[in-house]
Amino acid sequence: MITKSQALACCTQHFPDGPEELAKRLDIPIIRAAFKGSEGWCLRYREQAKITLNSTSPNTRQRFTLAHELAHIVLGTKNDVLPAGAGAFCADTIEEKQANSLAAKFLLPKAELQRFATSLPVDIVDLEKIAKKANVSSLMAARRVAELAHDIGLINGAIVLFQKNQYRWQWSPTLEFPSKDAVLQIWQQAKEASPQLYREKQDDRSVICASYLPGGDFTAMFVQLLPQNVAAKPTTGEQLRDLEAWLFGDDLKFQRSLAGRFGYFSDRKACGMSPEDAAEAFLEHYHKTWPSQWASKIADPRALEWLRLKFRKKG
Ligand SMILES: [Zn+2]
Repeated sequence: MITKSQALACCTQHFPDGPEELAKRLDIPIIRAAFKGSEGWCLRYREQAKITLNSTSPNTRQRFTLAHELAHIVLGTKNDVLPAGAGAFCADTIEEKQANSLAAKFLLPKAELQRFATSLPVDIVDLEKIAKKANVSSLMAARRVAELAHDIGLINGAIVLFQKNQYRWQWSPTLEFPSKDAVLQIWQQAKEASPQLYREKQDDRSVICASYLPGGDFTAMFVQLLPQNVAAKPTTGEQLRDLEAWLFGDDLKFQRSLAGRFGYFSDRKACGMSPEDAAEAFLEHYHKTWPSQWASKIADPRALEWLRLKFRKKG
């Protein structure tokens, strides 16, 4: 068998393939098959376990199910059949909560999250980037940010889940809202501000920053509590929005041309480069190819800044 800390070390070492490697190390076969009504399960017979995953579910969902079943094995608690749907956070027994918590750590170890969550406030652009790096859903990335709030510079964090616009469930290590009405009001504002961040000053001068996370049946709100000076900083998404308003205005032709070149360059030429180096190399590569009406904007330092942010977002 394996201890919890050995399992966590294995997942950190093999990030982002932690759960898959952990299954190999425990000699647990993973079967993928199409079925309805459930996300997957784990069968155990004596010392041998076998995990079955629903191949029709999104890859990130399958990985969560795998991590959840492995967590039960490592913790020595009873495996269960995971029902279909978003119920990943809506556990109501201690054993299920513990399995979800350990699964989240397998998928996105603390050291990795600290490496990626570097700009505050965290917005949807940052969450998507972290999610892509870890091969998890944005909701899982948000959960880990909330869980590790103190380690990355937030005062606190929470996730609130809604089903068909009705409040369903709330998850946070410690953050409490004064009432359900207060949550619903923040939710409404976050939805209107989406994809940008909604900020709300609190009496103690801290600031609630809320992001709307769109989804299928379930949608979510990611809430961060931040010191005022940190909350006031523009997020990655806000910086991009402001730079794009200046760079493109209503010149769609320029926007499309630059997006096309960016896509080509980032896929074929920028591999392994830092965002800073990639931005400079991009300008060098396309030097003198810009029509005269766009040349002055491209030469402006704000264009370089936009490119840096785009390459950083792309990761
Ligand atoms: Zn379970």
